[in-house]
Order: sequence, then structure tokens, then C-alpha cells
Amino acid sequence: MRVAVLSDIHANLRALDAILAEVGSVDAVWHLGDVVGYGPDPDAVVDRLRERGAIGVQGNHDLAAIGGDVIRDFNVDARAAMEWTRRTIASATRTWLAALPIRRAIGSYSLVHGSPRDPTWEYILSESVAAANLAILATPRGLFGHTHLPVAYVVGDDRLGGDVVGSLTPQPGSSLALDGRRALVNPGSVGQPRDGDPRASALVLDVTSHSVTWVRAAYDIEATQRAMRAAKLPPRGIARLGFGI
Ligand code: ZN
Repeated sequence: MRVAVLSDIHANLRALDAILAEVGSVDAVWHLGDVVGYGPDPDAVVDRLRERGAIGVQGNHDLAAIGGDVIRDFNVDARAAMEWTRRTIASATRTWLAALPIRRAIGSYSLVHGSPRDPTWEYILSESVAAANLAILATPRGLFGHTHLPVAYVVGDDRLGGDVVGSLTPQPGSSLALDGRRALVNPGSVGQPRDGDPRASALVLDVTSHSVTWVRAAYDIEATQRAMRAAKLPPRGIARLGFGI
């Protein structure tokens, strides 16, 4: 069974459609949150995910979009974009975002936005933080987003027989067989990549063989930027899409 794993779509419909076309026929679509925020198409992105029967979890931007004072923790640009998102989204979108759980387990995979121990907010950016989270992971394997960086943290044996966590930064098209190893895997961001490659990033997961393949898809970035300009979204957020930072 092939699953498209998408994270941090950030209301970028063109990026979402490009990556769905790139992964082709899949048996399921899973998402890791931050469906909205930053981008110009929050309702259309949620509609597309509903059409595809996507299941997933709530990210910090999804949480902020439904209200409350968490918006105070956002930086200036994220906050301005979130205020626009709150004004813009349909009530059906708000209801869909509010119903997302912060974590879920599907077979041997845990899905979270940030980390297993702090699903909404923690960034996994180092092997030591990954190791602490792998130690409490309730399933053998976990999928996470939030950092917008494609990566895998995998538990292996050191020469003394202890567990060590190693990391792999994939190239587009890289595959990794997880075999029986515990791992935390990040697909990168669909709608706002930050690894220096502006193309949409995602993961194809084979849940039978437990292998993962990272994919990238070029899309019409300028069209997304035009839509953001028309919505008067923050200029820095518009510019960074072109650089993938
Ligand atoms: Zn995000």
C-alpha cells in the first residue's frame, strides 16, 4: 500500500496539486498539519484534502486559524498572514481544522506535526531531540513536520550494542528502507520549503515494505506569489517562496 505523506501545505494550492500529480496513484493521503497559514488558498486546500479523503493531524497554524491567543507566539509575518487567514476562511474550513487531532496512530506509524512528546510545538532539529522523542514513541515509526526540512532520524546499533540515532538528509528521489528500525521521518514542506529548494516536497511511503521515497515537484511559484500579493499577504513571505527558505 502506497501512501502520500504531505506536511506544511500552508494554503498553497498550486504546490499541493503539483505534488499530488507527481506522486501519482496512491492508496491514501496522510497529512502532518499546517494545512493553512502563510498562503493564499486555505479553503481550496482544505477542499482538495477532503476530496482526496486525506487524514491527518493539526499543526500550530491550524490551531491558530480557529481562534484563541496562540497567535501571540507567532512572528510578525506569520501573525499578519494568520489574521488574514482567520478573516478569510469559510466556517466549513474552520470546522474541519478544529476537528483534527494533534496526534494519531495508523498501523505502525504515529503522525504528529511537531514531535511525539509535544505534537503541536516542538521542532525536531537534532539527533538528540530526535532520540528523546524516539524513546517515547508509541509505535515503531513516526512521521513529523513543522521544520519544513526533509530528514530521517533512524535508530541503529553502535558497536557496543547500544542504540544510536543517526540522521539522513535526503536528495530528491532518495529512498530509505526502514526495515525493522525505529525512525522519525519528515517529508519536508509542500507549500513553503525551507531547505533551499523551492519545489514542493513530500514523501511516498510503502507501509507494506516500510520504505520511504522523497519526491519534489516544480510548480508555478509566481502564480502563488501573485495570489499572495493580491491578498496583501506579507512581502517577506511572498519573497521566500521563490528561494525555498
Ligand atoms: Zn509549518
